[in-house]
Amino acid sequence: MIERMDIYVDGAWVPSSGTGAIEVRNPATGELVGKIAAGNAADVDLAVKAARKAFPGWAATDAKKRIAILDSVRDQLKERNDEVADLISDEMGSPRAFARMAQVSLAIKNFDFAARAMEEILEEGEEMMGSSLVVRDPIGVVGAITPWNFPLHQISAKVAPAIAAGCTVVLKPSKVSPLNAYILAEMFEKAGLPAGVFNLVAGDAAAVGDAIVNHPDVNMISFTGSTGAGKKIAAAAALTLKKVTLELGGKSANVVLDDADMAKAIPTAVKQCFANNGQACAALSRLLVPRSKLAEVEKLVIDAVAGWTVGLPDDLDTKVGPMASPAQQKSVLGYIQKGIDEGARLLVGGTTPPRETGAFVEPTVFSDVTPNMTIAQEEIFGPVLAIMPYDDEADAVAQANSAVYGLSGGVWSSSGERAVAIARQLRTGQVVINGEPLNLQAPFGGYGQSGLGREYGRYGLEEYFEIKSLQGAPVSK
Ligand code: NAD
Repeated sequence: MIERMDIYVDGAWVPSSGTGAIEVRNPATGELVGKIAAGNAADVDLAVKAARKAFPGWAATDAKKRIAILDSVRDQLKERNDEVADLISDEMGSPRAFARMAQVSLAIKNFDFAARAMEEILEEGEEMMGSSLVVRDPIGVVGAITPWNFPLHQISAKVAPAIAAGCTVVLKPSKVSPLNAYILAEMFEKAGLPAGVFNLVAGDAAAVGDAIVNHPDVNMISFTGSTGAGKKIAAAAALTLKKVTLELGGKSANVVLDDADMAKAIPTAVKQCFANNGQACAALSRLLVPRSKLAEVEKLVIDAVAGWTVGLPDDLDTKVGPMASPAQQKSVLGYIQKGIDEGARLLVGGTTPPRETGAFVEPTVFSDVTPNMTIAQEEIFGPVLAIMPYDDEADAVAQANSAVYGLSGGVWSSSGERAVAIARQLRTGQVVINGEPLNLQAPFGGYGQSGLGREYGRYGLEEYFEIKSLQGAPVSK
């Protein structure tokens, strides 16, 4: 059991002034994994003051030094990949094998690509536009607020570019899976990050999240989480006109065209929905298939789902672990019931949990799902796939674009040109063609109610700068 009753502020571990504690429990067993201090507004104020004090010095630090620190953290993460992945698996139920493959490696890439993108900016130099020199200024103190599902990945997607740009940070990780953030703070310390550049205050949304969002000395909120919380944060941040980037929910469509290699597409499509127990913002949770191929697809889906073994996360053969919490389990089971009630045809799974204890949900697939059904409109965030038959390409595109979200999507076709033509019509921030793996150099973010702004690589880094024009600056020779 890990106990952390401290906060990381101004380069030191100090006790939280809050009196409460938050328990972190393994959602598969209910066992206590950790206990952390429930931070409060006074902790946040201390952290923001430290970040504010550190900002001018860090902004003026040679970018090459900032890059070297990010590279050090990247290397430390590489060395401790399995240890940190196993901790994340204990915190939120991601199967060990998947966690070791993805949970930390994504963070490693975020640190690497933020550093490389900063190098690219240095190499390009500053731009002259007519009589103006256009320069970048780090935006200031960044409040980073993150969810539980890929906890370290989401933290690193904010903290690495912010620090590369010369910003200082106050991080509030999710209280469901906060323990990995303490390890990251230790890595920053070991890397020689100056005091106050990175600060950590854990706690709940009402106490810590609110205090960060409303603090007058925070310049930007970088948030990843639910669309509901994102709207509240955007509204609150408007009072002090902070810049806000929002990475929110999704209900992404995977469009299988009639010329796709079904034997390859369908098992991969199941994985694109069920990975990380279906708890991925970019999960392709709607599978759009030609009506004429529905029977063939259903058979392939049933075969593929049989390989998604439910079990304890620390069993390396487990492919589906528990939901991150009992509350998440209840929410997912509620959606499955809703699918049944609204007339979707249950193909696999259902509302009976596959294990008696723990927050488990049976991998579930519905067919004959129509765009007006709740399970076609709302983000479920669990291993629940909705198969939606379409009549022609125009119908496929219309159905894909029928949700309020626009985070991700997929297209399968044996013709690259055809796939790209459909992908261009999808109102969404990224489209995965023929199962291509996630590329963390390319921009990621939402259309519509999936958010504002972009993360990852160069586009993600650019969010952390103000742009200033210097009219009449002498042209450097
Ligand atoms: P959540 O919105 O409940 O919480 C996310 C974080 O925000 C937590 O740290 C929480 O304490 C904090 N928070 C919540 N309300 C707040 C408020 N009003 N003010 C300040 N802070 C607040 O989300 P979650 O349940 O932790 O994560 C799941 C959600 O995150 C899903 O909707 C998922 O789609 C989304 N998500 C999006 C992305 C993306 O990149 N677009 C990635 C992962 C997860």
